[in-house]
Amino acid sequence: MSGETPAPKNFIRQIIEQDLASGKHAAIRTRFPPEPNGFLHIGHAKSIVLNFGIGKDYQGSTNLRFDDTNPAKEEEAFVRAIEADVRWLGYQWAELRFASDYFEQLHDYAVELIRAGKAYVCDLSADEVREYRGTLTEPGRESPFRDRSVAENLELFERMRAGEFEDGSRTLRAKIDMASPNINMRDPALYRIRHGLIHHQTGDAWCIYPMYDFTHPISDAIEGITHSLCTLEFEDHRPLYDWVLDNISIACHPRQIEFARLNLEYTVMSKRKLTQLVSEGHVSGWDDPRMPTIAGLRRRGYTPESIRQFCNAIGVTRSDSTVEMGVLENAIRTDLDAHAPRRMAVLRPLKLVISNWPADQVETLQGPNHPKDEDMGSRELLLTREVYIDRDDFREEANKKYKRLVLGSEVRLRNAYVIRADEVIRDDSGEIVEVHCSYDPETLGKNPEGRKVRGVIHWVSAERGIPAQVRLHDRLFRVPNPGRGGDFLADLNPDSLRVLEDCVLEPALEGAQAGSRFQFEREGYFCRDIEDASDGRPVFNEVVSLRDSWGG
Ligand code: ATP
Ligand code: MG
Repeated sequence: MSGETPAPKNFIRQIIEQDLASGKHAAIRTRFPPEPNGFLHIGHAKSIVLNFGIGKDYQGSTNLRFDDTNPAKEEEAFVRAIEADVRWLGYQWAELRFASDYFEQLHDYAVELIRAGKAYVCDLSADEVREYRGTLTEPGRESPFRDRSVAENLELFERMRAGEFEDGSRTLRAKIDMASPNINMRDPALYRIRHGLIHHQTGDAWCIYPMYDFTHPISDAIEGITHSLCTLEFEDHRPLYDWVLDNISIACHPRQIEFARLNLEYTVMSKRKLTQLVSEGHVSGWDDPRMPTIAGLRRRGYTPESIRQFCNAIGVTRSDSTVEMGVLENAIRTDLDAHAPRRMAVLRPLKLVISNWPADQVETLQGPNHPKDEDMGSRELLLTREVYIDRDDFREEANKKYKRLVLGSEVRLRNAYVIRADEVIRDDSGEIVEVHCSYDPETLGKNPEGRKVRGVIHWVSAERGIPAQVRLHDRLFRVPNPGRGGDFLADLNPDSLRVLEDCVLEPALEGAQAGSRFQFEREGYFCRDIEDASDGRPVFNEVVSLRDSWGG
């Protein structure tokens, strides 16, 4: 991770530095706690970079803990994908844990609360609980089961665990304060009954599952977490986090600190919505290059460095905001501008025949891999009698502002000779199928004297070029805040993917590894996909355009 700008000081790092300076903690321990109910997205990256970055920068440690208390929505496949994504982002956890590792301990702490008269088994249905809960302006009412004896509660809780009661028929609730202005404190549920589920870690061992607000503080405390960092929507849960730890016999009491979640324009980040995009086939999968998932960004061609850089650039605060997509795009553009080798690829081919070039002559030319970095060396370019240029780089007529090839005038083929367009050949429908040209052998590496060359265009040998499929990407949604009008799917951009089938790549791209990234000169940055087209042609995904064409 050398060469990256160090993470800027934020209010959380300030708290940590104070806690180290005061001797409150000798070592810092953080955790990243995803629920394995989907793939990680760029919002999670913010939390990963924050938590693991702190662990690293303060010589502490960071756990990866799966918050796996809802087996109905969780899967082993998501566990594996999340592990792979965290590693790919460049981080190594101190310990890999599952909240389900603590199910037995959590149960025992629940029993402690019952014994202390601080938790009770409640027979109200979910609807009744809601009705009793009250509102923001009205206090709740106490459950008729609130004053059960300790003995009765212990017996009922054990029978819940033994599987004697149906789903939804009973819960274990904390006995706190039904009149609290904070609704989270109005006797929140600690355990619920869920039969018939196979948990990816614990199988069918349990039919009662602990709630997040009970599980999370205890899991943090068991692991000796010093600072439990979470997003702002948990601020109102902090009194409950503290209540749980204050009322059980556990010594460690981590400090919960909230920060603003990342929102990004032109995309969605809720796992429910991302799941819907995948399950309904609006995208090709969790790793579709248009998805804001880590797997999608990786397949698209983002580097781990660019994502870490982005997360450090947006900073960590307590005020909600929405980041422009251009900020993320700029992070990868800057990275690839510095590091991606240059290549030529023709995306919409038009054939040029160089009439004064001998039919089987192949000339090997050199093209620098990077215009500003000589250490990156050069690659061989093969020039033949027939070459492809982009259709947009030729016009029969144009004014002086058009810096490309025009009938009767000259242009340079990049890293090669100056050519003149002499004649167009049309098919029966009148479409131009070939342009006949002539080249000036005196113009390799030098300009012709006294003649005006309009500009420089890219090209690929027709005989030696590699046929390829290129996928151009636009934003997945047409509007900055999808779903504002109700249905986020209605805001999908129908043109977010354009597949170009007739592309031709320069021969140096032969054998490019899946995941390798290039600048296709004058076109943009592209990454070799992990899959080939069905006929075996390589597929290249557009990572990002050469310039920000959105900003203004
Ligand atoms: P969703 O609400 O979409 O299901 P989540 O917050 O429930 O997402 P988790 O897997 O529980 O997803 O999140 C793991 C960690 O990542 C949590 O600490 C959470 O606060 C953090 N996180 C999730 N989304 C964001 C985001 N957009 N910005 C910053 N942190 C996030
Ligand atoms: Mg969650």
